[in-house]
Amino acid sequence: MQGLKSTLMQDLCFKKTSEVKSSVTEVECYICGKGLQDGYRITAKTLSNGMALFCDVHYTLQ
Ligand SMILES: [Zn+2]
Repeated sequence: MQGLKSTLMQDLCFKKTSEVKSSVTEVECYICGKGLQDGYRITAKTLSNGMALFCDVHYTLQ
């Protein structure tokens, strides 16, 4: 019973990790191109011409 539980936990963890990885590659700063993989926090912001993503540095400048 215990072995079954740990297998389920590993399966859930694996699925969650792969989902995060696939979305990370698309999340990067509109200006400098830095992303979560570079240690930046990316935030979406609505501009006059649409929505764009910015890192911590460029988010405050806009
Ligand atoms: Zn930036």
